[in-house]
Amino acid sequence: MVSVSGVRGRVGEALTPEVVTRFAAGFGAWAKAKWSAGTRASGRCRVVVGRDSRVSGPMFHRATIAALQSVGCDVIDVGLAPTPSIQLAVEHHDAAGGLAITASHNPIEWNALKFIGPSGLFLDAAEGTEMRGVVESTVPRATWDALGAVQLDEHAIGRHLDAVLSLPFVKVDAIRNRKFRVALDCAHGAGGAIIPELLKRLGCEVHAINLETDGRFTRPPEPIASNLGDLERLVLESKAEVGFATDPDVDRLALVSDQGIAIGEDWTLALAARLVLKYRRGPVVANLSTSRIVDDVAKEAGAHVVRAPVGEVNVAMRMRREGAAIGGEGNGGVILTEVHLGRDAPVGVAVLLQMLLEDNAPLSAVVARYPRYVIVKDKLDRPNAPLDAVYDVLRQGFRDAEADTQDGLRLSWGDRWVHVRPSGTEPIVRVIAEAPNAAAARELVTRSRVPLDALGR
Ligand code: MG
Repeated sequence: MVSVSGVRGRVGEALTPEVVTRFAAGFGAWAKAKWSAGTRASGRCRVVVGRDSRVSGPMFHRATIAALQSVGCDVIDVGLAPTPSIQLAVEHHDAAGGLAITASHNPIEWNALKFIGPSGLFLDAAEGTEMRGVVESTVPRATWDALGAVQLDEHAIGRHLDAVLSLPFVKVDAIRNRKFRVALDCAHGAGGAIIPELLKRLGCEVHAINLETDGRFTRPPEPIASNLGDLERLVLESKAEVGFATDPDVDRLALVSDQGIAIGEDWTLALAARLVLKYRRGPVVANLSTSRIVDDVAKEAGAHVVRAPVGEVNVAMRMRREGAAIGGEGNGGVILTEVHLGRDAPVGVAVLLQMLLEDNAPLSAVVARYPRYVIVKDKLDRPNAPLDAVYDVLRQGFRDAEADTQDGLRLSWGDRWVHVRPSGTEPIVRVIAEAPNAAAARELVTRSRVPLDALGR
């Protein structure tokens, strides 16, 4: 499956070293052409390469490096690292781009190549299309005397940690003195290479599972509440004040409360915003499928939420344009401009501990202060006909709703919304609704499916 920001597949089926080298070489040629045309084109064109912990990671890592060398790009190899550490390394080295070998939260049989532009952001739609054009053309290969060189960089994670610990509103000494008791589940992902060290530097007593960075996931690696039973038990057994769970490439963070309940990854951004909005003005940027709990938190702080199309790069670019205080996604992705315009679980951990420190209340009590919502998600095969007719029917049927057409159709009311959008990576349409209770959310989904099902028949 190819999208603007990456190519992914099941290892040994659609995703082979041949496919990976083809895309990596095309990406390298694209990045090199951009680099040569740019203003910073002194020195050599360099591309950062890193990978998460997946079993297939080392194989694709070697294939990726070879492909980049073959088109004359020098490689800065950061090895096993979280995706946000790789993005930061692209910026740090002033590189022409980066390749992250990770299938993020997808199950063990998947892997993927994700394309990072020279600013450290994932490629946007225009860049992705342009790059795909190069992949599909005949990519010029370097002769023996023009092959790229490989340089190791073992400090990507260390620099990332330093950046997180120097966030202006994270008071490291105060957090250290508080000696939080924390439970942690890194799902055998790259989180094991950064989060334990971060918690150690923040003076936490850590009770952890699944820290081995071997990619042998013992649970489904997406940090959604239903996958966090072991962490819930660990929180209760260890009497931890909070449980942190990360996905394999460490851009998503989910929380378990002191009562041993996974509160849902929508809360991560909302609670991070609760802290950050104390320190600075500006909107919160979230995507159109993010829980409205973030609206409640923003409103309480006198701020508002700006919605962007789904996709990390869309949120990142909107944050830049709006001068956002904070941004992210309801899937546990927190973005702070100071560190980097990308979702970053270590940022989330530090900000959440500072929030708990300042609130001086159990996490469960903080959450209980806010309204409760239930999100219901559904998906169906994408009809062959355009979806505009569906959107028209829905807008007619829900005349009292506020409509947002940036990315599919999102209809919203004071305390509920429904979002219908075609997936960017799969031939499906997603229908997501949120309401104060499950029955109301399900009803929104059911009603929104009617014109879709009619179109599909
Ligand atoms: Mg991820």
